[in-house]
Amino acid sequence: LTIAPVDEFCSRTRAIFERCGSNRDGAVATYIPQLAVMDANSWGAAVCSVDGQRFSLGDAGLPFTLQSIRRAAPRDPEWVKKNNTIKKRVRVQPKKYKIAEWVEAARNRFCTSYTTFNVERNSLYLPFPSKRARRRSKPLTYALCLEHLGADVVHRFVGQEPSGRNFNELVLDDNNRPHNPMVNSGAIVVCSMLKQLLQPEMSSAQKFELTLNFIQRMAGGEKLGFNNAVFVSERDAGDRNYALAFLMREHNCYPQRTRLRSIMDLYFQCCSMECTCDSLAVVGATLANRGVCPLTEERVLGEEAVRDALSLMQSCGMYDYSGQFAFKVGIPAKSGVSGGILAVVPNVLGLACWCPALDKLGNSARAVQFCEVR
Ligand code: GLN
Repeated sequence: LTIAPVDEFCSRTRAIFERCGSNRDGAVATYIPQLAVMDANSWGAAVCSVDGQRFSLGDAGLPFTLQSIRRAAPRDPEWVKKNNTIKKRVRVQPKKYKIAEWVEAARNRFCTSYTTFNVERNSLYLPFPSKRARRRSKPLTYALCLEHLGADVVHRFVGQEPSGRNFNELVLDDNNRPHNPMVNSGAIVVCSMLKQLLQPEMSSAQKFELTLNFIQRMAGGEKLGFNNAVFVSERDAGDRNYALAFLMREHNCYPQRTRLRSIMDLYFQCCSMECTCDSLAVVGATLANRGVCPLTEERVLGEEAVRDALSLMQSCGMYDYSGQFAFKVGIPAKSGVSGGILAVVPNVLGLACWCPALDKLGNSARAVQFCEVR
């Protein structure tokens, strides 16, 4: 098994989880009305390893939107007790890499573009005491485009640099393209590619289903929801995103024949898809497992698309905290204004953690603390 000894991993992770639970820093996002109504104290985390071991804590089964939020249901203490256990163990075939070999393999074969991949600093890695080594809506739509269109086409429309600015700032790079696919402008352009370049004959409804199905396959078939109230709220309060969209139209950022209204709808729909920490951890595990879902063993993404998506998560996924996060934690991660963070330890596990209270950069205060193990 990738994570062994399991009991020790679980008890140490639970201790960190409980410690972070007392962190009252941050506040829920309010710029989209539906974000303002959520419970700042919801707190969940889940892990899924590349061989399907799963572990959940707290509110790991409650839904939240991928890049926005809805009110969490009240916590049921019985549910929490029942779910704070290992859920599933499959494929009992220990992989006998030594840590040094694993790091080397990861660097050479998987993380070629990571300059900061650093196992010593990898706080998720340190708590595992075993001698045996172990292998872990914006990055996902980006990965979907990469898979079907290839990096050359995708990066004609969007760059690869951290913006050094807020995720929704009215700013483009020197070539008048969005800085990267992890900020709003980049994700809107990715939606335009999804719409215009990938099977353009599909209707908007079919395109929505294609995207949802893809994320569902990444999550091992676990049902994802769609929060219509958040969708409507995002669309009604979306002036900033529309302003970005028009700015990019002025600079010819989109493929030909793009209709702004339909790509904005797709963008807001992607933001309003609902997951849980449990399902998001499986998405992370699929990325950690080079595109093969550990639960279904289906190859959902090619290795190159996974590598590129993880590279940009590593350099741009945590807003204007990305550099510090890469320095302190050293793994690819992506955060959303709903308070969720998806983190990936390549070849080891996917981790999802969620608490709606955000720090001033827009990352969940507790979830960042959890990843940093403070
Ligand atoms: N729906 C949010 C927005 O467009 C998503 C932003 C985010 O999660 N960073 O503003």
